[in-house]
Amino acid sequence: MTTIKFNLASAGYCEANQSHALRNESSRTIKFYATYAHLEHPIHGHILFDTGYTRRFYEHTRKLPFSIYAKITKVYIKEKEEAVYTLKKKGIDPIDIKFIIISHFHADHIGGLRDFPNAKFICSKIAYRDIKHRRGYQALIRGFIPNLMPDNFESRTKFLSFDSIHQKLENLGPFIDLFGDKSILIIQFDGHAKGQIGALVNAPNKTLLISDAAWQKENYVNLHLPNPIVRLFFDSWKDYKKNLNKIHKYHKENPKTIIIPCHCEQTYREIT
Ligand SMILES: [Zn+2]
Repeated sequence: MTTIKFNLASAGYCEANQSHALRNESSRTIKFYATYAHLEHPIHGHILFDTGYTRRFYEHTRKLPFSIYAKITKVYIKEKEEAVYTLKKKGIDPIDIKFIIISHFHADHIGGLRDFPNAKFICSKIAYRDIKHRRGYQALIRGFIPNLMPDNFESRTKFLSFDSIHQKLENLGPFIDLFGDKSILIIQFDGHAKGQIGALVNAPNKTLLISDAAWQKENYVNLHLPNPIVRLFFDSWKDYKKNLNKIHKYHKENPKTIIIPCHCEQTYREIT
């Protein structure tokens, strides 16, 4: 089994209310870090899982309807925090990023897609189909900002479908072995957004990237649900709960696997 080098970083953050992420908790402002993972495959090279924010968020939320997004979500991102900048500082040229796995199409995950001209994109077919034709308010209600998408997106993308996948992982369900070497297994985490995907990475410490299938460690450790108000922004509350249960069980049975909810400050601090 091929081993992957794993690094977690964040590209900006937004402010959120703790009582939304965890029901019955006190109302206080917390930081939702927009993390992304930098993976290094011995043959396939540099890979990103999501990209975090870029300053394009400000640029494309100046006018209605997207200014509503910026009003609801206070975003903080500086040039030197962007993934492209952080990677350059590590000596990695943007053209050396060969693949970007897109968990879903919210602005805090796709902000940097335009920075990596050689990258092939990997996303779920149903996630893309859900946002592909959306513009204006129809895009806004999905947390999608069309201008963040590279112009040649479709020709650069491998669209994944789980329709005829029979291989399953215990507790996590069907998976797609991205490179056929068990190094990165793509898993479905519907609920928060249609077609959301995560990845089980065969890093020296096995790591499960769950994107927004939980926002805080507390969500999956103690099955502490978010405030029901967030249903307004979720694709399916039923699927969200089903997947949170799966992650909860998986965690109990695989306590050594590092689980990374994209925006959890505690997790981010623990492993960076
Ligand atoms: Zn997110």
